[in-house]
Amino acid sequence: MRVAIVGAGVAGLSCGQALLAAGAEVHWFDKSRATAGRASAKRVFGSHVDLGAQYFTVRQLAFRQQVDLWEQQQLVAPWPAQLYCFANGHLQQSNDDIKRYVGLPAMHSPWRVGLSELAFTLNCRIQVIEYQQGWQLQAEDGRSFSGFDALVLALPPAQAAELLAQDDDLRQQVPTSLLQPCQAIALELSEPITHPATAVFVKNRPVSWLANNSDKPGRKAERQHWVLHFTPEFSQQHLTATADELSLLAQAELSLLFQQDVQVEQSVHQRWLYAIVDAEQPAPGVLISRRFPCVLTGDWCLGGRVENAWLAGQQAAKAVLHV
Ligand code: FAD
Repeated sequence: MRVAIVGAGVAGLSCGQALLAAGAEVHWFDKSRATAGRASAKRVFGSHVDLGAQYFTVRQLAFRQQVDLWEQQQLVAPWPAQLYCFANGHLQQSNDDIKRYVGLPAMHSPWRVGLSELAFTLNCRIQVIEYQQGWQLQAEDGRSFSGFDALVLALPPAQAAELLAQDDDLRQQVPTSLLQPCQAIALELSEPITHPATAVFVKNRPVSWLANNSDKPGRKAERQHWVLHFTPEFSQQHLTATADELSLLAQAELSLLFQQDVQVEQSVHQRWLYAIVDAEQPAPGVLISRRFPCVLTGDWCLGGRVENAWLAGQQAAKAVLHV
């Protein structure tokens, strides 16, 4: 069985790994120049900076077994963050003792280990999919790819829906507004922050999260660097904000929270249009076409987060093997 997977984030990679283990031939397509999607990292400030997923947690046994294996292979490590909360003008240590993991040395490290480069076509945005005996995919740049028995769309729901022109029934099941945006920025600081907090959940401010990325295992650098995430509401209202504008605001937020004059050497910005699942909306589960050998997967199918992306990928692989 030849399977095309559009989207090489955690869900697409997890799905493909399971299909390969079951003997299928798998090829991934992704519009980015690297894999891991929202769980990828940028190589800046002499380190790996996680601008998307900050850490992941483990709740289900199947993921636990996988994470234990990665930990033995030193592809992931626990991150014993000094976690604080900032609310009503007060910074307080959190009593949340959930174990948090990070990829080592970068968030993207574990997901595609052992996979051949040849199995990936990157920098390739799929624009049209068509089924006639087998699947044919057309990329934005005119390239086309054919001869696939099954197709997995491991994409944010709005991006999956764009491809479903031939399958109205499936398209109507896709909750296109499920993912909210996030403006993210990383700041390299001239002087370190002296407060012991290394990660803060923030309430009622433009930012919702900040973390000392250089505190994570494997990410030490000459200078401290911090990652800040703006809230979905702020990000939606300021989708066109520039890196400089966000950097100034982030610097002011750090100074306010830590009551310390913070100076920035450099910053890196990432705008995620489809970032975080809206917890108010129900998760639809992995979606399977009734007309074609096609399965939709992604974190959003099971409620968001890295763990659910990985689990949704495994579920999609099972569905593919039965379509
Ligand atoms: P994605 O990672 O979005 O993968 C989809 C892939 O599809 C992408 O690589 C994209 O390039 C590709 N693509 C899209 N359209 C096309 C197309 N037409 N053709 C080809 N390729 C296409 N989770 C946690 O557990 N803990 C956290 O701390 C956490 N923090 C987060 C913070 C931010 C700012 C963000 C953005 C996410 C965070 N998450 C966190 C969520 C976590 O990153 C996701 O749940 C997970 O990475 C989603 O994986 P996925 O494979 O479902 O989707």
